[in-house]
Amino acid sequence: MPNATNWIRKNQRATTANLCEPYGFGVHIALLPQCPSKTVASLCCYITYGNDIYEWCRDHRVHHKFTETDADPHNMKRGFFFAHIGWLMCRKHPDVAKKGKTVFLGDLWADPIVRFQRRFYNPLVLFFCFYMPTMIPVWCWDETVWNSFFIAVMARYGVSMNSTFLVNSAAHKYGNQPFDKYIEARENPVVALLTGGEGWHNYHHVFPWDYATSELGYTFNLTKVFIDVMAMIGLAYDLKTANPNAIKERKLKSGDGARVKFNEKRKILYTPNVKNK
Ligand SMILES: [Zn+2]
Ligand SMILES: [Zn+2]
Repeated sequence: MPNATNWIRKNQRATTANLCEPYGFGVHIALLPQCPSKTVASLCCYITYGNDIYEWCRDHRVHHKFTETDADPHNMKRGFFFAHIGWLMCRKHPDVAKKGKTVFLGDLWADPIVRFQRRFYNPLVLFFCFYMPTMIPVWCWDETVWNSFFIAVMARYGVSMNSTFLVNSAAHKYGNQPFDKYIEARENPVVALLTGGEGWHNYHHVFPWDYATSELGYTFNLTKVFIDVMAMIGLAYDLKTANPNAIKERKLKSGDGARVKFNEKRKILYTPNVKNK
């Protein structure tokens, strides 16, 4: 059953600065008990202004299904700048729309919170992303309007969005590939730190259903903390994680050798099918 946890995490990019991106919050269906966590999450999507849940999840699902092909909206093979922000500045490749139609989005559209957000996204973004962050410092400690606007809105927006975009660019270019060396997605601790856990991207592409997006526990993973707290108070459940044995097997099978423990290395050396150098 689709649940809030996946809704929150699976098609993600919740980041430290924007723990509340649409990136972070949007795959599956809203069920009544999960409404509070989803409502908070969708509220955060207005604050961060990174596209509504529906649109972001659509692009992200297409990215996962057609990674590094022309149908990938931010195809890393078209260069670092394109994957980072260039894809938002030009027309999408025809394959994105064509093959994107094969991706199921009915669960998103069935969610009233998602539909409400898509319908009223722009006016609510104006209010939550621009008006409130500008006015709160003015009301609370007499900041000037322009200081408040440039720091609390423009600077915050620039830093949080670029941190998030690094998942599509830097985490597809720099870092090791412990689980699959044949894909471009990488494990990038700097991006993980900046984005609250979304830099563990090689793992995430190999085990996309794992809500933690990493086998490293809470290491640079604020989003996992958030979801675990939600689970503790009953606002997220059915957390899915990858089987530890499957993770180990995958490392030995297709990883680049990073994060392989000593006793596991011995297994590689003495496995008959693996050539010794
Ligand atoms: Zn993803
Ligand atoms: Zn990716």
